[in-house]
Amino acid sequence: MLDALQRPCPLCGNTEPEVLAQLSLPQPSHSPLPSGYRLVACAACDFAYADTPASQAEYDRYYQQLAKYGGPTGTGAGHDAADMRRLEQLADRLEAELPGKDAAILDIGCGAGGLLQVLTARGYTQAEGLDPDPAAVAAARAHGLAVRAGLASESPALYAGIRFDLIVLSHVAEHLRDLDWLPRLAGLLAPAGRLYIEVPDPRGYRCDPRPPYYYFDSEHINHFSPRALARLFATAGLAPEAFPDCTLSLSDGSTYPAFAGIARAEAAPLPAPAPAVLPQLRSYLEASAERARQAILIQPPLDGDAPLLVWGAGSWAQRLLGQDAIPLARVLAFLDGAPNKQGQTFAGKPVVAPADGLCRHPKAQVLVCVAVNPHQIEAEIQRIEPGHPRSLHFITEPT
Ligand SMILES: [Zn+2]
Repeated sequence: MLDALQRPCPLCGNTEPEVLAQLSLPQPSHSPLPSGYRLVACAACDFAYADTPASQAEYDRYYQQLAKYGGPTGTGAGHDAADMRRLEQLADRLEAELPGKDAAILDIGCGAGGLLQVLTARGYTQAEGLDPDPAAVAAARAHGLAVRAGLASESPALYAGIRFDLIVLSHVAEHLRDLDWLPRLAGLLAPAGRLYIEVPDPRGYRCDPRPPYYYFDSEHINHFSPRALARLFATAGLAPEAFPDCTLSLSDGSTYPAFAGIARAEAAPLPAPAPAVLPQLRSYLEASAERARQAILIQPPLDGDAPLLVWGAGSWAQRLLGQDAIPLARVLAFLDGAPNKQGQTFAGKPVVAPADGLCRHPKAQVLVCVAVNPHQIEAEIQRIEPGHPRSLHFITEPT
């Protein structure tokens, strides 16, 4: 039983998804995004997603004001050789779908217009774009590109009455909280027009060489499979033609797994893609937890089986819990000096005032889980219980 689901499956409305993990993602204080979310999965859609409490309006504000785009997988600006190569490869895939150089093309979430520039250089005369970030729009316009400022979800209204031979969303759909407007893009397609949606490929998520949980962040809140994209296309009355592999080569020499779904109205239907993503995500999460455990040091090592008090119920404790780095089964309570936390529970354990917890459990060892100045806690414990022997441990990440 799931308590307080914030976001039913955005593809099928399923209100009972499986919980895969609780992820802690501390935010700067001015960010409208949550400091973490549950990663949940809809088995029917073969789709994993963030059960995020933030609204689409809050994500919109984040992308309009706070995100610095041109990240490794946006349609980018072609700012280095690897990015240029990626844009050329994307243009190759798209070109195979286009009827001619005068094809009408819309790149939704076009960033600074990297793809549009490549298409224009190849002789396409009717390529235009849309992006929510005013700085990206200004940069694209400075290159003479036809780019409007606006949210992706506004595109069905903004372009009403226009028919495109190709609509591209490249590394956009994984960022969207609300997907309900996407099927309306079908209304902007010319009779043989294609919808191209490129996303990260969870089938390629691996711990090595990247740090644990790398693929789960505040921005990537949807993890599509071919089956999930097929469902999205079906809602739009489109049929997928192909799901090409689009693995990206990044400038540091690593690769980034990605695939695309290409759909049109009258494609011969492909067989429904078999579920592929959920088992891979489960094993990726296990590998991430194991890697995270190995990366965390408790110094000095915990004594035998003595129970634990954890000092600190803040964001670092949250993240360490998310990484399974705190031996929760042995924890009696969390100690925290903040009155607004005392009396609450954290990870199912009571949060109490430090003096109360220490007094009640004189033999427990203390694991200090405080990010800033952890060693000052030692002096504080001395003040609370002068002369009392207390086994003290610190949890640190190697730097
Ligand atoms: Zn679903």
